[in-house]
Amino acid sequence: MSRLVVKGGRVIDPSQNIDRAADVAIEDGSVRDIGENIDATGSEVFDASGLIVAPGFIDMHVHLREPGFEHSETIETGSRSAAAGGFTSICCMPNTQPVNDNATVTHFILERARERAVVNVYPIGAITKNSAGEELAAIASMKEAGIVAISDDGKPVMNARVIRRAMEFARSSNLPVIQHCEDLHLSAGGDMHEGIQSTRLGLRGIPRASEDVMVARDILLAELTGARYHVAHISSRNAMQMVAFAKSKGLSVTAEATPHHFALTNNDMPPYDSNYKMKPPLRDESDVGAIVDGLANGTIDAIATDHAPHPGDEKMQEFERCPFGILGFETAIGLALERLYHSGRIGLAHMVSLFTENPARILSLRRGTLKRGAAADLTIFGLEHEWTYDVARSPSKSRNSPFHGHKFRGGQVATIVRGQIVWRLNG
Ligand SMILES: [Zn+2]
Repeated sequence: MSRLVVKGGRVIDPSQNIDRAADVAIEDGSVRDIGENIDATGSEVFDASGLIVAPGFIDMHVHLREPGFEHSETIETGSRSAAAGGFTSICCMPNTQPVNDNATVTHFILERARERAVVNVYPIGAITKNSAGEELAAIASMKEAGIVAISDDGKPVMNARVIRRAMEFARSSNLPVIQHCEDLHLSAGGDMHEGIQSTRLGLRGIPRASEDVMVARDILLAELTGARYHVAHISSRNAMQMVAFAKSKGLSVTAEATPHHFALTNNDMPPYDSNYKMKPPLRDESDVGAIVDGLANGTIDAIATDHAPHPGDEKMQEFERCPFGILGFETAIGLALERLYHSGRIGLAHMVSLFTENPARILSLRRGTLKRGAAADLTIFGLEHEWTYDVARSPSKSRNSPFHGHKFRGGQVATIVRGQIVWRLNG
């Protein structure tokens, strides 16, 4: 029997309304007990004094690039970067090569994860074949194989009839539908948020409305079909209001925000710096304010990073040519602490729920809790230690982060998956 006792921390588990000084005892990969002065004789001990001990953080929106784009990331390197960011579970989007639109690809991802990943990997299946937006993918067999949601992320499902059928199918299979909300006719050719900055830089803009019209359409279709519907990487203040409206009507509509969308505006982008190029684009102060409000008032349910590795040679091209997306894992907790907790906008237990019980509930994962008998996935983080993000030291294969050199106050200290310490600060 293997035994680990995490001693002397402040345990915050929103799923059980726990926020108090306590020890956590882990036996054979499961949570055994939470209590004071647990006897650690004969056990491995992790000294968590001065630190927060939380259920393992879940990132419900990531790109691991394998199969097909292993020069950008692999399931192994992505999982190591996730662990270094304090995440114990990650949900990978299907836009690989081949696309995860059938059970063979799903099985491959799960098998590779079992062999090489240091955190739990949950695949998300495509909505349509090859994510081409036309014919439904092999959703039922992928569900059998282990997908936890469907999405054509990277692309939206433009055809309203197709997404309606997908929602009906997803409802009967009890899977959430995750939409990348972007009307491609409105965003066509755009590289950044449409506004004064895009005009100044001479870049084509992506209007807020490109996101808004699809969120509006999909909320109406979610009502029509009764599907569980989730808005990926919400970035627009108007889309926020529509999600709030859907919730007020009692629809099963949820949303996630990325750290970069609550931490950065388009004014923070140094001219033509491709490390600030992502979809949806960084928007303006009013949108960032609305995202922070939405995180604080419960309109937004989860923080997800949209970790999107691209290697240097792709991101070094001229701005209009380089791909969208940035790394996300290792700066997520630091940014959440900086913008949500230290700024006084969100209490710590609420912040933890955005990374744990809420994404677990949206995806029906048996994670995100320290209940007795649950898998012993823990995220241990500090509130005050100062550190500087050095992307050159990331276990990721890519380096595309706008936060290189950023100084953080507080962040991840250790990551425990099924009772094993898979990453620790300076470890
Ligand atoms: Zn997306």
